[in-house]
Amino acid sequence: MIAKIQDKFKAVFGGSADMYASAGRINLIGEHTDYNGGYVFPGAIDKGIVAAIRPNGTNKVRAFSLDYNEQTEFGLEEADKPKQAWACYIFGVCRETIKRGGKVEGFDTVFAGDVPLGAGLSSSAALESCFAFAINDIWQNGIDKFELAKIGQSTEHNYCGVNCGIMDQFASCFGKKGCLIRLNCKTLEYKYFPFDPEAAGYKLVLVDSCVKHELASSAYNKRRASCENAAAAIRKNHPEVEFLSDAKRLWLEEVRTEIPEEDFLRAEYVIGELQRVLDVCDALERGDFETAGEMMYQTHFGMSKLYEVSCEELDWLNKLARKMDVTGSRVMGGGFGGCTINLVKAELYDAFVAEAKEQFSARFGHAPKIYDVVISDGARKLQ
Ligand code: ADP
Ligand code: MG
Repeated sequence: MIAKIQDKFKAVFGGSADMYASAGRINLIGEHTDYNGGYVFPGAIDKGIVAAIRPNGTNKVRAFSLDYNEQTEFGLEEADKPKQAWACYIFGVCRETIKRGGKVEGFDTVFAGDVPLGAGLSSSAALESCFAFAINDIWQNGIDKFELAKIGQSTEHNYCGVNCGIMDQFASCFGKKGCLIRLNCKTLEYKYFPFDPEAAGYKLVLVDSCVKHELASSAYNKRRASCENAAAAIRKNHPEVEFLSDAKRLWLEEVRTEIPEEDFLRAEYVIGELQRVLDVCDALERGDFETAGEMMYQTHFGMSKLYEVSCEELDWLNKLARKMDVTGSRVMGGGFGGCTINLVKAELYDAFVAEAKEQFSARFGHAPKIYDVVISDGARKLQ
């Protein structure tokens, strides 16, 4: 990919350019916790965006997307927003850098990526953090990594119409080979934990159901409302509860009869998920992948039966994993479709993937996609 980008850069703009890269991400555990002030536990992966970038001495950006085989040019003023969706990510990053007082001038770029689009691995965050990092490096703006992540997040909000949290861009900017990062979504404190499944004889593999059920956004709003309702009830007894994640299991029990059963179940999942993230972190510090895997199954159960954001295809994939003695498996992301993330013993990997493909196809009429992932570095300059 690097050589292809460099060749294209030479052909389109002449000469050579500095190379930058960034990554997509997975989240091992900690789902629907971000808006409840809880933990997420993501890591950057070995699939990302690579870009050749060189200032061109003008006030225009000339960008070539290898994957779309398309070139565009845009200025750096608010009115210059390009019409290609992919270019809006780059434009947004430029604008958000400028808004923060950073310097950005015209540049030429050719870029490409290998994060599957829309599969839940956050190809858009990879794109944003690659350019945010590169621009900061080229013009020596001295913007810190957290603010680079926020530049990506604001780009989604203000230029791409996606009202996302900070996890994806955070993981993509802070990602480190062999480490997952536990982020406290309330305080934004974070901590790295070792995660090197390959060294311990495991593999991380995503099985993409390739389905996306439509109720996702209305269901998402309903889940948030349930969580806020439960937190408000608990707050009456325990004023320190700002978010649901501040509450103890017992405190939820106290208000059981005051809130709808549905809200109780949603809150039960969220409070359980908080503890599971902590348990997984403890387990990983001991190199205990079996316990980490078991927690992943518990998260799946909670997402399916308490939070009710799974679907038939994902429950089916989770069940197959359990049947085949896969160490850990759960739906990853918001739910209602997308991927399961699976922690598999290396010797079981081939059989699991073969069965998942064959039996899923027989049951649902289309093949799932398989993505192997290795936890890798996030945004960086390539030497
Ligand atoms: P995801 O869940 O993968 O982030 P999004 O819909 O948020 O899905 O972002 C996908 C969009 O990001 C694409 O439609 C495209 O505009 C842009 N994008 C991602 N990867 C690339 C790439 N390799 N080349 C060009 N644009 C890309
Ligand atoms: Mg995205």
